Order: sequence, then C-alpha cells, then structure tokens
Amino acid sequence: MIKKTLFVLLGAVILLGFVSGCKPKEPDIEEVVDTTAVEISEAPVCQSCAMPLTKPEDFGTMEDGSPSKDYCAKCYQDGKFTSPEMTIDDMVEALAPNWAEWTENPDLTIDEARAEVHKVLSGLKRWKEQDIRTS
Ligand SMILES: [Zn+2]
Repeated sequence: MIKKTLFVLLGAVILLGFVSGCKPKEPDIEEVVDTTAVEISEAPVCQSCAMPLTKPEDFGTMEDGSPSKDYCAKCYQDGKFTSPEMTIDDMVEALAPNWAEWTENPDLTIDEARAEVHKVLSGLKRWKEQDIRTS
C-alpha cells in the first residue's frame, strides 16, 4: 500500500515536471502575425449601419430563417428591415454620437462624425440608391 502511494506521488512529480518543461517559450508571436492578417483582410460590415459582422449572431435573418449575408441582427429580421422608413440621415443621426467612441477617435466633433458616418453609409448597399435619389 505504501509502495503504491509512493509510485503515485512519483508519477505526479514526473508529470508536473514534464508539463512545466513543455510550455512553449513564445506563445504570442504567431498570434501577433495573425492579428495583422485580420486587419488587412476586410471584415464584412452591415450594409445598413456599418457594424462589423464578426460573430454568427451578428447577422440578421432572411425570411426562411437563414442568416442574412448583408445586414446585422439589429437592422434586418425575417427578410425585412426592422426600421424600413429610416433614411440615411436618420441613420447618420443614430450613429454619429457614438462614432468617436467606436472609431477610438475622441477628438472627433459631432459634425465631423456626421460627415464621416454619411461617407461610410453612402457606400453601403442599403443607402446607395436612396442617396442618389435624394441628392
Ligand atoms: Zn445593421
């Protein structure tokens, strides 16, 4: 019985030594390279509000329940816009107050934010036609 306990203890010590000896020395280098690659490749954004679509739950749904390729869950549900009456100006007003925070640019004024948001939105699918029509 004592012999068995000793064996178990010895085994644990060997295992511990093995695990700590096997820790990779520089685990972060590859991850840094990956992050750069992600920044270069363009992530899809919602074609209505410009929110980045990164997780499956970010995407809106089509009429048949499948995920929308173009729009986020806040803008698009069951194949329809959640606010179909919204104009590009409404969306600019909705996004501009948070834009400085989202873009990590605290010096941005609200007018600069509006101009920037309008520029971004007018390149998106939902607003392209509307913008041409109203201007
Ligand atoms: Zn959206």
